[in-house]
Amino acid sequence: MTYHGRFAPSPTGQLHFGSLVAAVGSWLCARHAGGQWLVRMEDIDPPREVAGSAASILAALPAFGLVADAPPLFQSQRIEAYDVAFEQLRAAGQLFPCWCSRSELAAGGGLHRDGQCVAAADPDRLPAWRLRVPDIEVAFDDALLGPQHENLRESVGDFVIRRAEGFYSYQLACVVDDTFQGITEVVRGSDLLDSTARQIWLQRCLDLPTPAYRHLPLVMGADGRKLSKSEQASPVDPADPLPALRQALAFLSVPVLATATEVQDLLAHALANFDPALLPQCSGHSFA
Ligand SMILES: [Zn+2]
Repeated sequence: MTYHGRFAPSPTGQLHFGSLVAAVGSWLCARHAGGQWLVRMEDIDPPREVAGSAASILAALPAFGLVADAPPLFQSQRIEAYDVAFEQLRAAGQLFPCWCSRSELAAGGGLHRDGQCVAAADPDRLPAWRLRVPDIEVAFDDALLGPQHENLRESVGDFVIRRAEGFYSYQLACVVDDTFQGITEVVRGSDLLDSTARQIWLQRCLDLPTPAYRHLPLVMGADGRKLSKSEQASPVDPADPLPALRQALAFLSVPVLATATEVQDLLAHALANFDPALLPQCSGHSFA
């Protein structure tokens, strides 16, 4: 099976350094394996989106030498596929409608468990739909972080598959599209490590294959917190890509050709010297 990797940003701002690290890391793994590198725009949460950021991210990637092997997949155009997966789960009795509010759940400890709602059905409001989560341990081996295990009933409980507003959850869309794009290894930031068990459980419920997972260290700010778009991380500059690209490679412990004056030379040198086993094995570190 040909290696298929992907970079899957959300359009919540311009490409910033943390996303660039995830993009470069996934690109290097895919190219090193002689496989395909795909891009997926995770634009299924309109309230969180920033106008113009999808186009801005997609325009920035080639400036950093990151050219996908297929046109980007837009999740906003994949709703019918999520409908099919949703109906499959519902027909199997794995979903239940839920009118519980966050505050109602908080009063009972915060988690929704065993399909037990605290709120009564309300015919005047659309429900959220949750997946019934059994008391079961989900285990997987992360290629960088080693063996992981999570009891989903204890950690997240019955989780939302479709919100009351009608939007599908990130977890559902992600597993449906990882299968659709034939992804064999998911390389992404460690902020998504705690989504992995939920995604593997969903793959089992939907009878979908489980890819390998490799979670890259997160870029932390000087204050030790995650550097993210939501915290106003400064965008990288596609008009001057070399400094940020050098920094991203160095962050990933990939050899950097100091004399390179072109993005292509920098990436070619990095790829020639790349070994995925030498990526940093930690959930995050700062970069000064
Ligand atoms: Zn409920």
